[in-house]
This record gives sequence, structure tokens and C-alpha cells, in this order.
Amino acid sequence: MLTLSAFFIIDAIKTLANTPVPAVTIIATTIQPNVRDEKTRRLSFSFFRLTEPIEETHDSSILIEMFSCSDCGNKTRARFDRCPKCNAWNTAERSKITRERIVRLSDVADPDVPRIAIREDWDRALGGGAKQGSTIIVAGNPGVGKTTEMLSIASLRGSRKFPVLYATSERDVRDLADSARTMRLDGTRIAPVRVRSMRDVRKAIDAIAPMITVIDSATNLDRFEAEDFIELRECIGEGCAFVICHVTKAQEIAGRNGLAHQASAIVWIRGKTLRTSKNWYGPAPMSVRRKLPKFRKR
Ligand SMILES: [Zn+2]
Repeated sequence: MLTLSAFFIIDAIKTLANTPVPAVTIIATTIQPNVRDEKTRRLSFSFFRLTEPIEETHDSSILIEMFSCSDCGNKTRARFDRCPKCNAWNTAERSKITRERIVRLSDVADPDVPRIAIREDWDRALGGGAKQGSTIIVAGNPGVGKTTEMLSIASLRGSRKFPVLYATSERDVRDLADSARTMRLDGTRIAPVRVRSMRDVRKAIDAIAPMITVIDSATNLDRFEAEDFIELRECIGEGCAFVICHVTKAQEIAGRNGLAHQASAIVWIRGKTLRTSKNWYGPAPMSVRRKLPKFRKR
């Protein structure tokens, strides 16, 4: 008996290696309904049936042989003498179904999605620029200069024709303009919008269609939760978004639980360094020497 089982297993593994269907699918379907009674015999039997040749069609979807019970309609991948669902005998009817092509990780991964250049130090911190569609949390202690940093990036990366959207929930627009003037930044490259909620942000993005969006800050919006990152990702399209978040005393991103989980990256501004603590599209943790914005004296 033992030798027989071993033989079955070895045989099954051999055949599995030559079939295009993932082993997991086969094992799962095999073990699923008919293990309860007559365990060993049926399991071996299923293995045997399931490893029969499967046709592959021209559009790379595949044809799978199925057996359905003419009494109750129960469908299984394994042929049965007695329906495992309604226990009727000899009701198995053979049919073929087309299964959609399985999407594999290798089909999805696209290393060539263009990146958006931000500034040399930020590009390195993000692993080669900001990936299109990415949402980046900008964190740092109060007074570290998150707004200054983002304004300076906005004036660097925006253009007259394609300004950076600066959605502010913290200060009014006039106040922001004063800061930009003090820093001697080119204000024509920045489109400021006062926002109170994610809805306002979305409206502004739809109207301006910016390549780069800054939200200053998410913490100060009416409500900003993990799902808002998903919404944000949807509406920025091929652009990217920097989302300033406040930090708690425990050095955690302020906001509801799980907020930071939905961001593509978290970059901390810490004095003279940028520290990436999370990055879906690049190495983390990672520290980069910051290229501090220079303000020309008047
Ligand atoms: Zn049945």
C-alpha cells in the first residue's frame, strides 16, 4: 500500500512538471470535494484524471475537461462514479470549458513605467524619480520645512504651461504666495488651491490635470484615510502626488490606522537628510543627503 502511494505521488509529480496548469490549482481542486470518503483511492484517482492532457488554444486560454452531475449540476475537475454533492451514481457528464488566460506576475511587472524627475536628491531617495501614479507621504517634525521643501520643488518642476498643483489645507493662498515671494520662487509655475476635503482635491486635479500634485497637508483635511490614497492614485493618472502628513510624538504618521499602508512611499525630511522608510518602487530604508533649497537674498 505504501509503495503504491509513493508510486502515485512520484508519477503525479512527473506529470505535473509537464502541465501548464499551476500545481496549486490541481492540488486544491483535487483535495476539495471528494476527500471525505474513500480518501486514498479517490485522491490518487483524482491525481490521475487531472493530469490528463489539457489543450491550449491559439489565444492562450486553455481548455479544461470538466465533469458535471446530470442530477444536481455539481461540477468537478475529477471524474466521479458517485456525485460527491448529491451522492447519485453514474451521473457524471464530460464537458470542456475554456479557462481565461491566467495573468502572471511576470506579465504585470513593467519596469519601464516612466518616472517623473523631481530633484536630484528626491530622485535618489525614490529610487530613480517618482513613479507615475505614485503617492508619496512627506513626513517630518513640525518646523522641519516640509512646506518650504515642497514649494521649492513645485517651482522647480512646474512650468507656466503645466504648473504644479499645490493644494493647501493649512494656509490661505495669499499666505502661500508671500512665502514663495520671500523664497524668490517663480510663482507662475505653481497653481495654489485652497482645499478642505479630498473632494476639493479631486476637483482641482480634474481641472488642472497636473503632473505633480502636492497636498499640504492631508492631516488637516476634513477626513483623510487609507482609501483616499486609492482615490488619489486614480485621479492623478500618470502624474504623482506628494502628501504632507503630520507626525505624532512617537514618530508615526498621524491619522487613522493603516493610512500609511496605502501610500507608495514615505519620505522623511530630517534636517540635512531625506530618509525613505517605505518604497514600493525602490529601495527602503534609504538615506540621501538633502540638497537644501537655497534662497537668494534680496
Ligand atoms: Zn449530483
